[in-house]
Amino acid sequence: MTKKSIIMETIILFNRVYLTGKEQGYILDSLNSRRHCGNHSYGQKCISYLNDEMNLKNIFLTPSCTSAMEMGAMLADLGPGDEVILPSYTFSSTANAITIRGAHPVFCEICPETMNIDVSKIEQLITAKTKMILPIDYAGIPCEIDQIMQIAKKHKLVVMQDAAQSIGSKHKGEFCGTVPDIAAFSFHETKNLSCGEGGALTINNPDWLDRAHFLQEKGTDRSLVLKGIKSKYSWVDIGSSFLLSDLNSAMLLAQLEDWKVIGEKRSVITKAYNELFSPYAEQGMLKIPIVPDYSEVNHHAFFVIFDTEENKDSFLSILKEKNVYPYIGYLPLHSSPMGQKLGYKASDLPITENLASRIVRLPFYVELVNDLEYCIDNMSETLKTIYK
Ligand SMILES: *Cc1c(COP(=O)(O)O)cnc(C)c1O
Repeated sequence: MTKKSIIMETIILFNRVYLTGKEQGYILDSLNSRRHCGNHSYGQKCISYLNDEMNLKNIFLTPSCTSAMEMGAMLADLGPGDEVILPSYTFSSTANAITIRGAHPVFCEICPETMNIDVSKIEQLITAKTKMILPIDYAGIPCEIDQIMQIAKKHKLVVMQDAAQSIGSKHKGEFCGTVPDIAAFSFHETKNLSCGEGGALTINNPDWLDRAHFLQEKGTDRSLVLKGIKSKYSWVDIGSSFLLSDLNSAMLLAQLEDWKVIGEKRSVITKAYNELFSPYAEQGMLKIPIVPDYSEVNHHAFFVIFDTEENKDSFLSILKEKNVYPYIGYLPLHSSPMGQKLGYKASDLPITENLASRIVRLPFYVELVNDLEYCIDNMSETLKTIYK
């Protein structure tokens, strides 16, 4: 037998799911309950938890944030002829929730400090057809929801917040999702709290609540049967299967219960990145997230906007050789193939286009704490090479 020498290589992934240790027990318990569909024991526990801990009202657990936003678009009665204002710098799901209803996405520019929608540019996009404003909370930094609500009120528009990344973040003391008409969260494996695939819709507009139950249950009034109001349920509305299974909810509860611990662990990574990149930011070589002092973040992600696309590309390629894997940000939606089909061209949103070409998202997950020194040292060397 020949002896093989094993070289343990450090690899810094972009993302890795964190397990709290309680998932197995909860999932097994749900399994043994023999009630695995939506709105059962673990689903109810997650809903109560979100309600108690984050003041989120009228929660509907859904199979994803994507489906939560689709449900939200149905509730808001979006249809052909309606326009929705949203950033181009977002995930396809944000726009799809609208286009799937036949409504038209109107893309707005973003601010370089947070990469969130530029509130000062919303009003000029409002027309007689505008029905909704749909901001996102990029990297877990809350959008300026108070100002967005003011604009919406003035023009009688609905606000749906894509809070996929911002569970647990706060804007001016209010948890993300508690202010707009509706908000959607994600529990996808790339987010802070994961159940594989999962999401939630929170509804603050009481007029929509009854209908929400119908939409979630395939357009039936099954909710009234469960409440004992009706003996048989029937088809009463449009709808879909917008339910998260109890098995997924069991995993979700384990993660929810540790949301503060997870946030604290992740804050160590934010701190390390801030320390490394701040001197470069101060000298104007690059930009890092600027969290307004009235916001509290959940430490979902950290981004760096390089001064040139070339320096961004060098950063990615040098680090790849060292097994460190930062990732590019979103490709803007307006200049994507689908955006072009909708009539947009890249030059329509020059600020977004430019920022997106220079941004990098850094590796970010709880267990990165164990390899943080390797990660930071390599990034530090890389920055010295680039900005020598
Ligand atoms: C992750 C994400 C989504 C999609 O979430 P799913 O739960 O995978 O559907 C939507 N919008 C934003 C901004 C996201 O980051």
